[in-house]
Formats: sequence, structure tokens, C-alpha cells
Amino acid sequence: MPLEIVTIPCRSDNYAYLLRDEATGTVALVDAPEAAPILRALDGRGWKPDLILVTHHHGDHVEAVDELRSRFGSRVIGAEADRHRLPRLDLAVRPGDSVEVGAATASVLDASGHTIGHIAYHFPEDRALFAGDSLMVMGCGRVFEGTPAMMWETLSRLAALPPETRLFSGHEYTEGNLRFALSLGKPDAALAARAEAIRAARAAGRDTMGPTLAEERRTNPFLRAAEPEMKARLGLGDVSDTESFTEIRRRKDAF
Ligand code: ZN
Ligand code: FE
Repeated sequence: MPLEIVTIPCRSDNYAYLLRDEATGTVALVDAPEAAPILRALDGRGWKPDLILVTHHHGDHVEAVDELRSRFGSRVIGAEADRHRLPRLDLAVRPGDSVEVGAATASVLDASGHTIGHIAYHFPEDRALFAGDSLMVMGCGRVFEGTPAMMWETLSRLAALPPETRLFSGHEYTEGNLRFALSLGKPDAALAARAEAIRAARAAGRDTMGPTLAEERRTNPFLRAAEPEMKARLGLGDVSDTESFTEIRRRKDAF
């Protein structure tokens, strides 16, 4: 039986996610940016979070963890590597570990680059990836602690998951990311079509989460860093994929 996924807008542009395993009724929250909207989403459904899965230590992802834990007795799960700077963990995990949400299972993936210790949660059977601030819809997180090479490895690892995997990121940055993608030159048909779909979704007040990795691979400029056509667009010669990614990230930082 599948996982039900609820996207909860928090703060100005963050997302938290509620995952409910239909087989057992177990509920997990992915990141806890702000208590009030999460409590409303839980209340409206009569749910309580059995688990809180944390992607990384930034305040806009963990601020409400302690409040929700003390209210619901949730078990908090996060990266062993970041234990010293995360809210108190009930279960510390490493890349390669599994996390169970009722009958559903996530594998923990290394998603470092934005921060060192950042992890992502992949539910293969439900074809869902919760990537926090690593792979973003149409973009990627800023490289605060890691190196561009580390972020490129992370993006390559995540993009190599099955193409039908749906991507759920930590922020609604999609329109800004789209503007940047369009700044890199004339869009191909796939990007032009996606631009229209994204603008229509935002104009209608809908979120843009849950595209497939296949769509991301075709249109997210950061995932296209290895394409010779992208390197040519950037005016780079015969450079490595890491160098190409680094240049795209540098341009986005200045955009
Ligand atoms: Zn962050
Ligand atoms: Fe964030």
C-alpha cells in the first residue's frame, strides 16, 4: 500500500512533508520548519507524527522539531554526522541505512554539499525522494560547507535514482531557478514546455514539487552540466563535468 504525501508550505518558501503509510497509519514528518502550519495540517487530518525525519541542521528545517516532539512524542531521526548540531536524535543514521515508516522503507542517501552531513530520504517503492536543500526542483542548494565537487557528486548520485522517482525539495525556489535556466540561452522544447507548466502552477497558487527525475534530468541546468551542449553554451572548452557544474553554480550565485 502506498504512502500518502502531503506538502505543507511553511515560513516564506519552505516545505515540510507529511508521509502517511496507509498500511499501518504511521505518519512521518520530513523537516520541521515551523510549528503552526504543520499543526494545522496534522489537526485537519487527525494525524500525529510518529517520526520526524530531518534532512539537515539549518534552522529553517529544524526549528519546530523540539516543540512537535514534546507535543506528540515523535521519534526524531537525523544524520549521525550532524548529531552535535541537530536537535536531540532518537535515531542517528548514516548513508546506506534504512528508515522504516510503518511498512514503507526509505534509504538514507548522502546529500552533502549544501552542508556536510546533509542526507536525503529515498522511498524506492513509493518512488519518492526527499532531498532537502541538495537537489532542488529546477536547481540545487547553495554550496555552504562542502565543495562544488561534493555537490556535483551528490546531484549525480540523486539523479541516478530511477527516472520515475518524484522529487520533493525543501523550498519553493522553482520560478527563480527557472529564470536562471532561461538565462543560459534559448530553451529547448522540453525546457520551454516546463517553463509554461511551472508558471501556470504558480499562477494558480499550486506548488511545483513532485516532478520526476526524468524531467529534472532534461531541464534542470545543474543536472545538465555534463552535456557537451551545456558546456558549449557556457563557453567552456573541453572541461570536466565538475568544472562545468562549478561554473553553473558560480553563475547562479551571481544571478
Ligand atoms: Zn539549508
Ligand atoms: Fe533551507
